[in-house]
Amino acid sequence: MKRLDGKIAIITGAARGIGFGIAKTYAEEGAQVIIIDLSQDAVDEAVKTLTDASYLATGFAADVTDNAVIEKIFKQIFNEFGKIDILINNAGITRDGLLMKMKEADWDLVMNVNLKGTFICTQKVCRYMMKKRSGAIINIASVIGLMGNAGQANYAASKGGTIAFTKSAAKEFASRNIRVNAIAPGFIETEMTARLSEEVIANYAKAIPLNKMGSIRDVANCCVFLASEDSNYITGQTIQVDGGLIM
Ligand code: NAP
Repeated sequence: MKRLDGKIAIITGAARGIGFGIAKTYAEEGAQVIIIDLSQDAVDEAVKTLTDASYLATGFAADVTDNAVIEKIFKQIFNEFGKIDILINNAGITRDGLLMKMKEADWDLVMNVNLKGTFICTQKVCRYMMKKRSGAIINIASVIGLMGNAGQANYAASKGGTIAFTKSAAKEFASRNIRVNAIAPGFIETEMTARLSEEVIANYAKAIPLNKMGSIRDVANCCVFLASEDSNYITGQTIQVDGGLIM
């Protein structure tokens, strides 16, 4: 028996990066995964990679900030599968810049995708989870939302907001047996960080007690735990997957 056998899981921003890693790990654990991402081509490619490996996967091209489209897609998913067990709000972006020079458009875009997108997807999914009196929602925040970072005021505010949103949603939904938790990843090896020099990576690692960057699998494993019965008594929490960066 795999840990997510028979579970229907929606993962946003899952055509690549951490989201795709979560989708792959979930599929390996027996879940039917539904990938949501901006580009139809990227969604098709990600779904093909999983179905070619005989996993259960499907997908939709959508922007998480588009309320009407998300509502329509989630309804379609519920009608097709009869339930939605897990939502992972993973879609996220950065538009870095020092506060003094930050463009209002860059503030708005980051807040919209990272925070409002999480609100929209959570609001749309909760009605289906409430019907079944069961569900797990996992919001991908960041250590930056806990400790702040120069040049990332918009991103830090969006991720700090995600953590506060997680606690509030957990309190609202607990009586319906819907658990809401957040994960705050630290420095994770992704396509972006793969382009950094060994020296830069070694410098980052020095600040991390476990002395290495995290892997996408480290984040995905935590997502499996927070959606599985192993975490049945955990809600409203933010789990740092950061090698001990913030203690
Ligand atoms: P990534 O590689 O940039 O992937 C993000 C995915 O989300 C992309 O496929 C992107 O599509 C999609 N996306 C962007 N805006 C969207 C929208 N409005 N609607 C739907 N999909 C959208 O990012 P990542 O590094 O894997 O990060 C994933 C999450 O982890 C983010 O929330 C990020 O803040 C968080 N995080 C990452 C790290 C890290 O070290 N990487 C650390 C802490 C937290 P396009 O490619 O078309 O833009």
